[in-house]
Amino acid sequence: MWQAEVRVDLDAIRDNVALLRARTSAEVLVAVKADAYGHGLVPASRAAVAGGATWLGVATLGEALELRRAGIEARVLAWLLAPGLPLHEGVEAGIDLSAATPDLIAELVTAARTAGRPARVHLKLDTGLARGGAVPSEWPALFEAAAKAQAGGDVEVVGVWSHFACADEPGHESIDRQLAAFTAGLELAGRYGLAPRYRHIANSAATLTRPDAHFDLVRVGIAAYGLSPIAGQTYGLRPAMTARARVTLTKRVPQGQGVSYGLTYHTARETTLAVIPLGYGDGVPRHASSAGPVRVGEVTARIAGRVCMDQFVVDVGDAPVAAGDVVTLFGDGGPSADDWAEATGTINYEIVTRFGSSRVPRVHVGEIA
Ligand SMILES: *Cc1c(COP(=O)(O)O)cnc(C)c1O
Repeated sequence: MWQAEVRVDLDAIRDNVALLRARTSAEVLVAVKADAYGHGLVPASRAAVAGGATWLGVATLGEALELRRAGIEARVLAWLLAPGLPLHEGVEAGIDLSAATPDLIAELVTAARTAGRPARVHLKLDTGLARGGAVPSEWPALFEAAAKAQAGGDVEVVGVWSHFACADEPGHESIDRQLAAFTAGLELAGRYGLAPRYRHIANSAATLTRPDAHFDLVRVGIAAYGLSPIAGQTYGLRPAMTARARVTLTKRVPQGQGVSYGLTYHTARETTLAVIPLGYGDGVPRHASSAGPVRVGEVTARIAGRVCMDQFVVDVGDAPVAAGDVVTLFGDGGPSADDWAEATGTINYEIVTRFGSSRVPRVHVGEIA
């Protein structure tokens, strides 16, 4: 018997990946960074592979090594590397690593010699996001360093890649501009003798809306978890995560009762309050105070007053709610992660990722669980 749980339907992840795979002739990488957007790194990765993903993508070297420790053998790309990491551990584990500077190429050469095998690298180009990657003026030096390291047998240039800034706004002028810059970068790489097997730039949004951006590999994250990167469209995806809790206590209170810290919410009339044992320590955004929707029995109610660290209160009116009843925050039979995102001024990505907290038991269900 649980009092709060995050349920993750692994079949939904598998089926979403299969659906995405059917939309492209490119290979599919599923982004499993940040504990698979809160869905559980290892189980979600297995579900992604079962759905046809041949690659997994993570931010950190630590995440990549954790996948290998769990026995996952799919190709893994790690793309967020500060200088000075033990990159040889990644090379030894057969992890593909991203590089955007000649300095990192030099580190990869050293790592390859320590590991006794070539480092597989994906060269990251900044085509307009202005986050990771080399800007165009740095491309010649990056390509030259990579070509030299490859000629020396220490590095294998497997990929050239980039990332969109606004793919979730179909038609945004930056998308074509970034694609043109990426194509120019690929051409330039060719002039340095680089012929990467994997050219990739598409995230979920571009995978769903821009087949001309698929190249050899698409990198999907949010869509694999069944949520849409584009407002108002579902693309037949099935949300994998459901967050639920049991009411710990109910009480009748009179009209005008202030509720929770700060007494910021006042009851409009005599009503029933229900206490829900989830708070910001579990991933409920404090910004959901007096805003987040929950489904309890036949009614959808909103959080009354401030979200606390461990709990929040819901004003359920005269609905027959009792201690032990199940309340759904989002997912199966409740509001959606998108509803929560809208109520709290964020994106569905942040809602599910927050709920990957360790205090709430995360239960994996489905045929492949
Ligand atoms: C997270 C991430 C993705 C996946 O993005 P979604 O919008 O969730 O599909 C792709 N590429 C990179 C570099 C990422 O960091």
